[in-house]
Amino acid sequence: MYLKSIEISGFKSFGKKSVLDFNVPISSIVGPNGSGKSNVAEAFSFVLGEQSIKSLRGKRAEDLIFNGGKDAPRSNRASVKLIFNNVQRILNIDFDEVAIERVVNRDSSSEYSINGSAVRLKDIVELLSSAHIGASGHQIISQGEADKVLNSNIRERREMIEDALGLKIYQNKKDESIRKLEKTEENIKQVESLRREIAPHIKFLKKQVEKIEKMVVMKEELTKMYHDYFRHEEEYIKFEKQNIATEKQPLLSVSGKLEKELVEAKQVLAKSVTKDSRSDDVVKVEDRLKEVRTLKDNLSRSVGRIEGEISSLFRMIKKQNEANSAMSKKTVDLSQVENVYKQIDLEIEEANSITEFSKIKEIFISIRKILSDFIERNKENEDKQAILDLENEIKKLELEKTGYEVKIREANNTETELSEQYAFLKNDIEKEKDSNRDAEKALFRIVAEQNEIRSKLNSLGSRESVLRRDEEELQRELQEASALVGLSALRYKDFWPIDTNGNALSHDQIVKEPRFVQEEKRRVMEKIKVRLEDAGVSGGDDVVKEYKETTERDSFLERELADLINSSTSLKNLIKELEEKLAIEFRNGVTKINIQFQEFFRAMFGGGSATLSIVKEKKRKKNSDTDLSVADSGEEIVEEEEAEEGLDIEVSLPKKKIKGLMMLSGGERALTSIALLFAISQVNPPPFIILDETDAALDEANSKKYGDMIVELSKYSQLILITHNRETMARAGVIYGVTMGMDGVSRLLSIQFEEAVQVAK
Ligand code: ATP
Repeated sequence: MYLKSIEISGFKSFGKKSVLDFNVPISSIVGPNGSGKSNVAEAFSFVLGEQSIKSLRGKRAEDLIFNGGKDAPRSNRASVKLIFNNVQRILNIDFDEVAIERVVNRDSSSEYSINGSAVRLKDIVELLSSAHIGASGHQIISQGEADKVLNSNIRERREMIEDALGLKIYQNKKDESIRKLEKTEENIKQVESLRREIAPHIKFLKKQVEKIEKMVVMKEELTKMYHDYFRHEEEYIKFEKQNIATEKQPLLSVSGKLEKELVEAKQVLAKSVTKDSRSDDVVKVEDRLKEVRTLKDNLSRSVGRIEGEISSLFRMIKKQNEANSAMSKKTVDLSQVENVYKQIDLEIEEANSITEFSKIKEIFISIRKILSDFIERNKENEDKQAILDLENEIKKLELEKTGYEVKIREANNTETELSEQYAFLKNDIEKEKDSNRDAEKALFRIVAEQNEIRSKLNSLGSRESVLRRDEEELQRELQEASALVGLSALRYKDFWPIDTNGNALSHDQIVKEPRFVQEEKRRVMEKIKVRLEDAGVSGGDDVVKEYKETTERDSFLERELADLINSSTSLKNLIKELEEKLAIEFRNGVTKINIQFQEFFRAMFGGGSATLSIVKEKKRKKNSDTDLSVADSGEEIVEEEEAEEGLDIEVSLPKKKIKGLMMLSGGERALTSIALLFAISQVNPPPFIILDETDAALDEANSKKYGDMIVELSKYSQLILITHNRETMARAGVIYGVTMGMDGVSRLLSIQFEEAVQVAK
């Protein structure tokens, strides 16, 4: 026995806890109308997870809870517990005894538990379906629902059979997979739409980030260049400053020296102005010389005049003498004449060697004396007086001449004196002129040298101002660099410039590098700055962060999409597999049921035939894709036909030409449905079957047949029969009587067959 017992507490009319033990194959529940028998059957449906309140004959969940009666308070909850013997593990759970319980509260909440542990309805359904106990209720045939299987449409019938065949588990799985697939596809659409939505944003951010990355690279490049440039610049400025100072120092000292020299030269030149007074002295001496020379000339002229007069007197004397000699024709010795000649010759000889005029004159005089003496000696004294007079005159004149000659000598002395004086003065002045010239020369030299120094200082000054500009420029560049690439640009002191091979440059290489190289570097840096400004992306870090987050989200979505597509594929495969399995098992099951159905049917009706056949029924369905506007416009609504697989029942009663279910009598319908239910139950026997007055419509002969079949059926499944039928009761091992007292509470009691017959009445 699989089903051990059921505990009903607070459920419907069972206001008090009631337990029914099922330790025989056939248990029967009997009792008067309205005593609560069907409530027991419903208690089974309830605990097995029935979700339709309506099929439990209620409107709300509250209707399932004992509502109280006279002297019996209403219950707050309804609970039903079903206990299975699971030693044979008919339920796929590792317990020898399994208690499945469902509780419903007045707030409509349901609680399920297996062996006291709270579980979900799904767990209960799964556990039960493994034992062919389905929620479709095929094993619980409620009162008046015996022919439900005949009344239902092909689809419902199919579901019922699937359930009975234990295919519900697959069907559920399939339905669940379809639901999951729908959900997955919906998710796929959502994820795809999300990805589509963020794609342009990612594209935009990517471009921004690329720009930022380029900027970072540019900034790094610029920072390196800054380090090199600043270091070069600083070293160069220091070096150049030092150079200028070194070059300037000697120039300044020379300049100072020159200044002193200049002062001195100027002083010398200033003195020359006072020298002009000497010139006056020179002029004075010159004037006096001129006077002396004029005097000398005058004296000489007087001497000349006297000498002229003398010579004219001499001529007169000569003439006198000639006149005297003509008269006396006197002869003189040659020797006397030669002697005179010799005397004169000597005098002339002397005169030849003398330049001085006065001496020559004396010689002349002497010659004259010689001659006159000769004549005198040879002449006869004739007209001597005249000659004496003349001679006296001459003497007077010679005296006068001597007076002049003395004066001339004095004048000569004065002239000599003045000439010396003049020469001295002249010399003095010449000397002064020389020192002035030196001073002037010095002046020229100093000025030239000063000019040279000035020009050198000027060029140093230009270099200084260029350097100042360079320094200012460096400061400006430093500020700009820190604003542009950050403070890292200012850490150039930590770096030492290197060459293209990565070798450190020497200090000399740095400071002596041609300036155009720095200029060239600056030009390149300017270009980078312009490119940086052009690429200007604001909020760099935020953009990178956003890009990272967005791409991560997109990658996450991509992965999710891949997962979803994978699970969609596997769900589709699973659905396909389940469908195939369902189709195969269903067909096999139906074939098996048909064999049993045929047997039970023939047993019931003593012949005839009954078959379940798998059919496809075309069903009209409004096309869900139809555009409403088209529908509204009155155009023909497109409809499509959908083939639905289901089960049809074909019966053929013996000796009757009846072939449709519709034409069967109530009893015939009951027998047919019972035959089918029994057939189903035999193919895949559930642990228990509850038949709630399925025998109500049977006559005595058919009740007997029904009773026989029940016994047959009980070999496979435990039977709980709610009945008023004596025949049926007679087959039960245990009979429970249900009564309802004045308090409206159903009560159970185990009774004997005879009592049961009595109660049933
Ligand atoms: P019959 O032989 O006529 O089919 P039965 O024995 O099957 O009768 P049930 O249909 O099981 O009788 O029981 C019906 C009774 O249960 C009614 O009297 C009804 O008042 C009672 N009942 C149903 N729901 C509740 C409830 N929530 N609280 C109290 N009593 C209830």
